[in-house]
Order: sequence, then structure tokens, then C-alpha cells
Amino acid sequence: MVRAKPKKSKFPADKARVKKITSKLNRAHPDAKLDLDFSNPLELLIALILAAQARDDLVNQVTPALFAKYRHAKDYASAPPEQLSADIRRINFYRVKSGRIKNCCAELVRSFKGEVPRKLDDLLTLPGVGRKTANILLGNAFGRQAIGVDTHVMRLSQRLGLTRNTNPDKIEFDLTAIVPEKQRVRFCHLLQYHGRRVCFAKKPRCPECTINDLCRYPDKTKA
Ligand code: SF4
Repeated sequence: MVRAKPKKSKFPADKARVKKITSKLNRAHPDAKLDLDFSNPLELLIALILAAQARDDLVNQVTPALFAKYRHAKDYASAPPEQLSADIRRINFYRVKSGRIKNCCAELVRSFKGEVPRKLDDLLTLPGVGRKTANILLGNAFGRQAIGVDTHVMRLSQRLGLTRNTNPDKIEFDLTAIVPEKQRVRFCHLLQYHGRRVCFAKKPRCPECTINDLCRYPDKTKA
């Protein structure tokens, strides 16, 4: 039996497509970076806890005074809950987040001499720290090439057809397989900026999108 020749996709294979997407997004968003302000791993950990379902710019307004007041993990761990809550009250869910910060810092003091650990497995033992937070920490505070799947990385990798998964951990593994190691952190920053500026969750601006020709999203907006 003669088999029909497989239809040639108009899209390059995933690794080649990632290369092209990275190149185009680098031109479109040369300023892409992590938007949270920090000067050491503990500050980034605290900023990431505060940034859950909150705007980065608001977190950046609150953290300078917070970081000046609480310099070490033990400072957060020993702070009266009402005081820490009051210090972050401009951020949504501040009571919950205050509890998370205290629990996390208490564990840092108990098990890691107050230092933020550099290993993924150790980070994942901290209360409230999942793979997304751990990988963003590793990538941005420790210079490791890790993929942190936040809401933008998830949405764009799905729309671009780089994953068929909806579970962030599985998306991380899919992206790790096709994004060159040296570019993993950069690739995440590029997807985050493109998600904020062009590929909006509700109404993506597909007609003016620089990677329109490389995108498999079936519901693209029309010009
Ligand atoms: S073409 Fe549309 S859906 Fe695809 S990445 Fe661009 S903005 Fe997003």
C-alpha cells in the first residue's frame, strides 16, 4: 500500500520556531526583563510572594520600605503578624501573604541558616514556594537557566503551539526540551513582555504581532 505523503506543515519544527520567535521578540522587546525590583535572593523571594495576583509596579512601590525595614529572614519570621500585614497592606491578600512570608522565612531560619537555598529541591521545601517561584528565583537571582511558567509564559506557549499541556509543570518540561539552555531565562522574559504588550489574554493584537506568521493560535484576531 502506498502511503500518502504527510502534508508539510507551514510551520518550522518547534526548536527552529523557538529560534525565530526568540529573534523576533528580541527585536520587538529589547528591554524585556524581570520587572520586580530586588538586590538579593531574599528580596526576590519576598517580592515573588507579594506579586501573586498583584501588579509588579505596585509591589515595587511597597518593597523599598519593606526591604529597608526587614533585612534578614529572621526579621520577617519574628515580626508580629499585624505589623507585617500593615507594612504590606497596599498589596491584595496582604494578610494571607504576610502569613506566607512569615512561614517561608521561619523555614529559611530553621533549615537554611536564614539563606535562600540555591537548589531547586531545597527551594521546593519552603512553604508556599512552587516550581514557578523556585525557577524564577534560580533564573534571576542565581543566574541559572530555569524556566518559570507564569501566566504569560503559559498562555503564549499554548497559543504559539509550543505545548499542548495546561499544567504549568508539564509546560516547563515541554519548553525545557525545545528552548536552548542559554536562552531559557531570556525566552521567559520575552514571552512575559509580549504577553503584556501584544498578546493579551482577552483580545490579542494579532494583526500587529511580530510573530504572527509563527503562531498557531486558531482564534487570532483579524485586522
Ligand atoms: S499572533 Fe496573536 S495569539 Fe499569536 S502570539 Fe501574536 S498576538 Fe498572540
